[in-house]
Amino acid sequence: MPPPRQNILEIEGLTLSYRARGAVVRAMDGVNLVVGDGEAVGLVGESGSGKSSLARVVLGLVPERVSRIEAGRIVIAGRDVTRLTQAEWEGVRGNPVAIVFQDPLSYLNPVMQIGRQIAESILRHTPDLKVAARVDELLELVRLPPACATAYPHELSGGMRQRALLAIALACRPRLLIADEPTTALDVTTQAEILALLKDLRQRLGMAMLLISHDLGIVASACERIYVMYAGHTVEWGRTQAVFGYPAHPYTIGLLKAAQAARNAQGRFATISGDPPNLAELPTGCPFVPRCPYAMAECSRAMPGPFDAQGDAGHTVRCWRYHETASGIAVARPARDAG
Ligand code: SF4
Repeated sequence: MPPPRQNILEIEGLTLSYRARGAVVRAMDGVNLVVGDGEAVGLVGESGSGKSSLARVVLGLVPERVSRIEAGRIVIAGRDVTRLTQAEWEGVRGNPVAIVFQDPLSYLNPVMQIGRQIAESILRHTPDLKVAARVDELLELVRLPPACATAYPHELSGGMRQRALLAIALACRPRLLIADEPTTALDVTTQAEILALLKDLRQRLGMAMLLISHDLGIVASACERIYVMYAGHTVEWGRTQAVFGYPAHPYTIGLLKAAQAARNAQGRFATISGDPPNLAELPTGCPFVPRCPYAMAECSRAMPGPFDAQGDAGHTVRCWRYHETASGIAVARPARDAG
């Protein structure tokens, strides 16, 4: 039997708030999330659900002036990093955790050659390395030609820029790569190439990945386990096949129906009714109440769960009516199923 997997990332009951114009907004409330060493985990939800805040707080990138961790903790590679100083975060960013963002143009220096930007990242963590050889090695790893070392970001296509950003992130040999909507700004063909590259790199380097996306098909094709986030809460999680094959939370069910290409009897695509929530004015109890077709009076009294969903170990849900939803609703899986 293989040895049990260690966790590279553990988030327990994390509550993060922002202060803006005199109001306090809870971007995350009691969030739990675990990524095992070498594991690929997906995080899905609508825009504004708190996914990107989670990515940033794990790397100490939320602005201290306007944000506060009110409760919970973040443990990376066995070290509690919840209250590190900015100087101490330097020992975490890059290795053991690195990140690639959605828009490489915003994160690459427009007046610096790609090779120098990769070299900067290498020298920051391993100053004694033969830098030029390592830059070449990283370019090859992300399938960019060596000539890209002397190119500027504006001379590369969107897909090549995303590969360059990936090379910078890999320069420090991270144990966990957070990929925050890494394919959103790309055309469909390039999306597929970047996704295939991420899967290949993860397997070759034995690296864990937290893939954040609003695209259920992308996450289903790349991740072993999934977390679904709504209004700053993790509302359902478990193995990909369990969560997408037998969803137990009405929000997950709504997302899956909306992801299907089929139109309803009125010729319209399925949507989740209502608007994404205003985090400054969430209802008491379950935050999905205003949009939930199954809401009942009890739902407004207290936040439900977490409960074990039926049928699959580790499949967990935060809904008072999870028994009924899990057994009563059949939803087709997203187009690209877990591989
Ligand atoms: Fe809907 Fe109630 Fe479940 Fe919330 S707890 S998702 S409102 S049924």
